[in-house]
Amino acid sequence: MASDRSGCVIAVDVGGTAVKAAVVDRHGTAIARLSVPTSRDGADGVVEQLGLIADELTHAAHARLMTPVGLGVVVPGRIDEAAGVVALAGNLGWRDVPLRALAEKRTGLPVTLGHDVRAGGLAEFTLGSSRGAGDHLFLAIGTGVAGAIMLGGEPYDRGGYAGEIGHVVIEPDGVECGCGGRGCLETMASAGAIARRYAERSGAPVTAAEVAARAAAGEATAAAVWHEAVDVLVIALAGYAFALAPELIVIGGGLAGAGEQLLAPLRDRLADRLGFQRMPTVVGAELGELAGCLGAGLLAWRAAGREVRP
Ligand SMILES: [Zn+2]
Repeated sequence: MASDRSGCVIAVDVGGTAVKAAVVDRHGTAIARLSVPTSRDGADGVVEQLGLIADELTHAAHARLMTPVGLGVVVPGRIDEAAGVVALAGNLGWRDVPLRALAEKRTGLPVTLGHDVRAGGLAEFTLGSSRGAGDHLFLAIGTGVAGAIMLGGEPYDRGGYAGEIGHVVIEPDGVECGCGGRGCLETMASAGAIARRYAERSGAPVTAAEVAARAAAGEATAAAVWHEAVDVLVIALAGYAFALAPELIVIGGGLAGAGEQLLAPLRDRLADRLGFQRMPTVVGAELGELAGCLGAGLLAWRAAGREVRP
């Protein structure tokens, strides 16, 4: 059993601004972590970063008498997990990047490629707020808005196309979205959209967290922007609830840091909209910004033929 105890995986969450990585043990615990700004040199630059991260975290693992058995990498966008290809990642400017093969060549480790939010949903289900829950939705609200539709304990994937709740159209003539459409949920309720909408009205370039703080302090413009964001989230979530009747909705991503300031009005207004439909429980995520990274670790463990036991 000694070899069992000494195993670990390296988990990496490649985001638009930062690459977060960790050594993850058999229990799903991140025992060493690092974060670096995402390379601006495209996919080649990120593959090189993966190599340097794998080297550094392998050292950290060896210092704890552990040996990495695999590397899990998650990326935002449309990910073909079976093929190991990033089909389209708008935030990174990538198209058809065979990341699994490139990362295996650079690191020498078996690599598993996944989607950041679907992996985050799996991590919350295995280690966090939705442990043991029935069919539910994990909605990550950060730079963008994306969902993991969790059915039978697994993210519903459909070739990487499922879960794009951020692109549900709220205002057909609204602001242009990165997807090429207009008035998507993401253009009104993502952290970036909240900051932009507040700046347009107040002239103050602040973060969504600051807009939340100003709204809580009673500033009218911030409160109006916050209220509108909650309203459009409710429209999208009500549509989802009418179609799939989930028992639970978990809100994650950076905006979930606002806690009850976001969740309480979301519950109230969702209950108003749902009428005859069953009202799901609405809770905040537990794993915070580490969800995607831990999810990458779970995928790597699974590829190594072992399930994580918290
Ligand atoms: Zn869109």
